[in-house]
Amino acid sequence: MRIRAHHLFCMRGFQGKGYSPRFVQHMAAVITRLARGEHCTVVAVADDICAVCPHRTNDACTLYGDTVERMDAIILDALRLRQRAYAIGELYDAVDHAFTSWESIEAVCGDCRWHGDCTFYQAYEKKKERDR
Ligand code: SF4
Repeated sequence: MRIRAHHLFCMRGFQGKGYSPRFVQHMAAVITRLARGEHCTVVAVADDICAVCPHRTNDACTLYGDTVERMDAIILDALRLRQRAYAIGELYDAVDHAFTSWESIEAVCGDCRWHGDCTFYQAYEKKKERDR
């Protein structure tokens, strides 16, 4: 399976909402497959989640455009992964290690429209308030 880098954040904040009923069902299934042990490679192009997205056209993201590529690039640069398939737990550990501050998350997620429904983003918001 292929997972684009910023979806490592999205999957952890997923609360059953998305771009269409089919998309939501599919994203939940991908998360379940990974949780059950299927490995994935991390990419910076349309992935197995984008596959059923109504905003994907010819493997381009018509909703976020260049922004989504910038998000993927920041995460890939921070994680420094090898060219191999990973268990999802390894990738989530790598994210936790590389992204420890509110600022580091905001640099990726600042332009995302899902802040109100993303528990991953909200956890960092709470951390920012605690650290004040
Ligand atoms: S096509 Fe864009 S909006 Fe749809 S899942 Fe992929 S990155 Fe997200």
